[in-house]
Amino acid sequence: MKDKVQVEVENYRELRNEASEISNKLTKLHQKEMACKKGCSECCMHFSVLPVEYFSILEELKANPPKEYQELNEEADDCNFLVNDLCQIYESRPFICRTHGLPLLFMSSEDDNWELSTCPLNFTNFDDFHSENTYSQDTYNSKLFLINQKFVKNYEVEKFGDFDMISMNRLAMDLKK
Ligand code: SF4
Repeated sequence: MKDKVQVEVENYRELRNEASEISNKLTKLHQKEMACKKGCSECCMHFSVLPVEYFSILEELKANPPKEYQELNEEADDCNFLVNDLCQIYESRPFICRTHGLPLLFMSSEDDNWELSTCPLNFTNFDDFHSENTYSQDTYNSKLFLINQKFVKNYEVEKFGDFDMISMNRLAMDLKK
């Protein structure tokens, strides 16, 4: 029988694939309105992710190490894996990086109103947004939260609370262990 932690890592990867498929469809749908291209790293920055995502990425990178990366600390503004404006862990990049540039729909934490976020370089002449042509960030974040909740409950190596996040820049240190 698979251990419970590994089951949640697989659930995470399945959800990530689903989100990637939707992101790819939206990118295709909006290709005329989006300026995103290889070499643009405007959206890249230092992110923190939930433990299930962190340890899944760590496992993938140990099996398939990035050729290059920086060793920035957890207070840095930049991401370790951005080298010459290219992501060195593209296949394993976290959820948040898979939605860069897309129109993101989410509920504001300040006033309970729906908000739409887009890159200022994109959609300069387009505002016909609706549920079918936007990425529902809250839907995927909620599903991810529930998977992570089961992961942290069963993960014995380090203890985490349901809302704890881990800096992606910690990966540089953990990759050496
Ligand atoms: S993981 Fe890749 S896509 Fe995400 S911020 Fe870092 S360099 Fe950019």
